[in-house]
Amino acid sequence: MHCSPVYEFHDVGMCNFEQIAAELRKFGDIKWNLMVIPFAGELGVEALGKFTMQLLEWKKEGYCLHLHGFKHKADTNMRRSLFGRMALRLTNYEAEFAGLSKEDSKILLHEALQAWQKLNAGEAQGFVAPAWYGSKALFSLCKELGFENYSSRFILWNKAGGAKFSMPFSTAGLPKLIIPCVNLCEKIYLKIYSVFSFLPVPRIVKHLSTL
Ligand SMILES: [Zn+2]
Repeated sequence: MHCSPVYEFHDVGMCNFEQIAAELRKFGDIKWNLMVIPFAGELGVEALGKFTMQLLEWKKEGYCLHLHGFKHKADTNMRRSLFGRMALRLTNYEAEFAGLSKEDSKILLHEALQAWQKLNAGEAQGFVAPAWYGSKALFSLCKELGFENYSSRFILWNKAGGAKFSMPFSTAGLPKLIIPCVNLCEKIYLKIYSVFSFLPVPRIVKHLSTL
């Protein structure tokens, strides 16, 4: 079955949602999957309320809200595998689930869910680990918790539809000079995919910092 390209907007949080809302309006009718960081930090009830209103508005407009980690910044006191420690260096300490044991993944996931519940925006429609560094254990936990969707860098999983390969196009963390190149590859791949729909599903990934 042919799948439409997937559009993901990452790192939607308390401090940037107004700017992101303005950017999304510029994209017109595209229904984005929004990767939401639930951690409220020191922000008060009023700021939280505004964020909730925006999230509910997006939901009404047909956007999907995904839980995107807890703080999107790793707790360096947690024990991690060597792979996890390397992932932290590669991602400027953003891959907060990288290299955690199943038990610690569970603890962090529960903290993320508690923060999500405080947003009062209903159920999250999926889970995506920051910088896509999850694990098999995290995937199992998300399935046990009943998440409808889970994605890693190259896989999109849906409860009803199963797993599909995906080709992400993201410019986050890349040098400015390379960004036009990635954008061109994205355009070309979308054209190719419109003919050869058996190819991995294109995933267009945007961050506020790369617009
Ligand atoms: Zn992110």
